[in-house]
Amino acid sequence: MEIIHVSAECYPVAKAGGLGDVVGALPKYQCKAGDIAKVVMPMYRTKFLYDNEWEVDFKGSSNLGNWHFDYTVIKEKTNKLGFDLYLIDINGLLDRQKIYGYNDDAERFTAFQIAVVNWLSNWEHRPDIVHCHDHHTALIPFMMQFCYDYQFLGSIPTVLTIHNGQYQGWMGWDKSIFIPRWDLWKRGMLDWEGNINPLASGVKCAGKVTTVSMSYLDELRVNANGLEKLFEYERGKCVGILNGIDNEVWDPQTDPYLEHHFDIQNVTVGKQKNKAALCARFGLNPEKPLFAFIGRLVGEKAADVLPDAIRTAIHHTQGNASFLILGSGETAVEWEFQQMTGIHSGVFNAVIGYDEKLSHHIYAGADFLLMPSRVEPCGLNQMYAMRYGTVPVVRSTGGLKDTVVDMGDFEGFGIRFDHASIADIDYSVGRAVSVYQDKTHMEWMRKHMMQIDHSWERTVDEYKAVYQSLK
Ligand code: ADP
Repeated sequence: MEIIHVSAECYPVAKAGGLGDVVGALPKYQCKAGDIAKVVMPMYRTKFLYDNEWEVDFKGSSNLGNWHFDYTVIKEKTNKLGFDLYLIDINGLLDRQKIYGYNDDAERFTAFQIAVVNWLSNWEHRPDIVHCHDHHTALIPFMMQFCYDYQFLGSIPTVLTIHNGQYQGWMGWDKSIFIPRWDLWKRGMLDWEGNINPLASGVKCAGKVTTVSMSYLDELRVNANGLEKLFEYERGKCVGILNGIDNEVWDPQTDPYLEHHFDIQNVTVGKQKNKAALCARFGLNPEKPLFAFIGRLVGEKAADVLPDAIRTAIHHTQGNASFLILGSGETAVEWEFQQMTGIHSGVFNAVIGYDEKLSHHIYAGADFLLMPSRVEPCGLNQMYAMRYGTVPVVRSTGGLKDTVVDMGDFEGFGIRFDHASIADIDYSVGRAVSVYQDKTHMEWMRKHMMQIDHSWERTVDEYKAVYQSLK
């Protein structure tokens, strides 16, 4: 089977969150399983671009409304990621430092999608599946069926995976001129409540829709940022498939970012060494339980509640727990954390920014990982934490619910709570501090969760079943 993944992110080329991790790993494991998986994404100005060798695969041109643009498809020469990687260069539009966050993101990603279908229409053969990821690529199923120039691609089955349904890529109908000549009778396939909604369009037009956990699929029917009814209506074509993690990248025995490697046998000592280094760097006491948070500082992750919750927990534990934050996002939250670094120095520290290497150190050195997320489609952090013997302390939602079993339940190894509130977080920190005193229990939990199989090998078969159902 030949599968083309179309995505805005792919680790290690460009990553802003879990989407990048998934698109960097799933195709690799699909290739290992004997299929041909390829990735096509925008060509941003990233380090990966300059550090690697490329060959030109195709040159073409198309239109975005009245604007005629040329595009170039380049291919990484050495297959170093374990799959063929193609980047689309549209001069002035995609070749920027950041992935998202520009005023013309609607134009950028629409042009990218047009270039993808235009490129595909020039192939001498047809792939078996076009697999789109999130709203940035969700207009492709529409384009392949209802744009006159590309309708002949309509027989290729399409799959849309929703990594985050909160972001939908809305645009006003004035932007409809960007979409290549399309069948105006199909307006309803683009529209949701008076706007063009790319994610809704993808859900309507794709052959199958997958979400990155089973619980998230259920939750979308009641909380989907306005698309609840659509998910209810289309539930027959939706499947929940839990993400895997790349066990080759995330392995505490071989992780090149770590100075002190460890495995399941020496997890207690290995984590102690990593924790000592981390605490020395951030002025924290390694004797105290260390709680970490890694992620985007946004409402979805309940980052707004964290400063008060941590202050309360510092008060209630009488300074007998330490907290370390790595993340960036809303300015007000960033500012609060920066203030707290001074006020609570010795028990609190925060790094505002994105730091891949530090994130690996934290997974290896922390005792507990806090994830009070309001919405968590799958969540990879808790799975990385488990692989590195760090106990997840999570809100019961989405993928967190599907992967973490509370230590009060049979064979439980984590801590779960119901509300993204100060009280629930504070109470859960209290439970964690208590269990931390019980070294035998901690070691059992660490070893138990390190054995859990979250590998992609398991997940690849589930995607294959979805593809085959479309043949
Ligand atoms: P998201 O909703 O952000 O996609 P996920 O849990 O699916 O959340 O994936 C988050 C990924 O991004 C993880 O690999 C996590 O380690 C990484 N990450 C998030 N914020 C940062 C940061 N500030 N520095 C380093 N890595 C980060």
